Amino acid sequence: MTIAQLAHFADPVLTPRLVVKVGSALLVGADGEPRRDWLAALVGELAAARGRGQDVIVVSSGAIALGARRLGLAKGGRGSLADAQAAAAVGQIALAGLWADLFAGYGATAAQLLLTLDDLEERRRWLNVTATLGTLLARGAVPVINENDTVATEEIRFGDNDRLAARVGQAAEASAVLLLSDIDGLYDRDPREAGARRIPVVRRVTPEIRAMATGGSSSGLGSGGMTSKLQAAEIAAMAGMALAIIDGRPEAPIGSALEAGAGTLFLARPRKAARKAWLGGKLRLRGSLHVDAGAARALGQGASLLAAGVVRVEGAFVRGDAIAVVGPAGDVLARGLSEYDAGECAALAGRHSRDHADILGYAPRSALIHRDQLVLV
Ligand code: GLU
Repeated sequence: MTIAQLAHFADPVLTPRLVVKVGSALLVGADGEPRRDWLAALVGELAAARGRGQDVIVVSSGAIALGARRLGLAKGGRGSLADAQAAAAVGQIALAGLWADLFAGYGATAAQLLLTLDDLEERRRWLNVTATLGTLLARGAVPVINENDTVATEEIRFGDNDRLAARVGQAAEASAVLLLSDIDGLYDRDPREAGARRIPVVRRVTPEIRAMATGGSSSGLGSGGMTSKLQAAEIAAMAGMALAIIDGRPEAPIGSALEAGAGTLFLARPRKAARKAWLGGKLRLRGSLHVDAGAARALGQGASLLAAGVVRVEGAFVRGDAIAVVGPAGDVLARGLSEYDAGECAALAGRHSRDHADILGYAPRSALIHRDQLVLV
């Protein structure tokens, strides 16, 4: 049995471990203060899930929105990176305190983790996060996670907690990710348009599905939006996790939405081996190799990527970096770790393996991307 409907998110057998992401607009009121009563009711629901035997991990936004008010910053603290960093430093204390207080009311210990993109992009650090989460959950704590906004600069930040939640779910080997939003799911067009319809189930995030996503955060308080939620859904699906978007605005929103099936459920794909799933969900790609139809076909059959089928090299990557493999139609076919620097790839592109030693002047590797370091998307 796999997760096939929203109600399964409340089932401890199908969903032994659940990530719940809470957006800024839900946590922080228009007055810049935390919405404590709403949050208390939500924590009641999360405590009930734990009571049913589910592990719960919270990914909480709201640091920037909460801190902005206290520092008197304009634009909710999002006017500049420096403002956002300062606001987060102030808001994160309040935010963590709130979660810790409310969970303590149910006898549960909250544990704060502040992560940057690299903590989850680098394999060694990823394994470290995985181990920490595992220990916390085994000891009965509730991890409460946010991006480490105070030190995260543009280049090293997730920027939105939707994708962070999906990556955290993957690191924790969760079964499902629940995004509480200020909208009850994905609509087939701009939800403000007449006749817009909610899509209850998405089997696969296709270009048609992506075209339905409009813009960034509608509240202006968070930085996500439907686009980042779809990216989160893709990461989740590839890691074998279901993901759902529900309307978080009602009091105690989870129970009623799951029961009524009110939301959008993105189905999981078959779970890949952990390392391949990590690779597939990596957010930072350093370049790409464009391949011809023959190479595209061979990849689909599980082969390594050989230089002979590469027609173009983009980016300034080095050996070991994650790169995309792009097919003749311009679509990303796979991701993998490059065996060579970009310059070497360019020198070898289109050339048969037997010529490689002469071109490079040293004993070559068998492929530009080895099949063990490659994941089809
Ligand atoms: N990490 C940001 C915060 O705590 C929120 C990011 C988002 O809105 O997704 O304020």
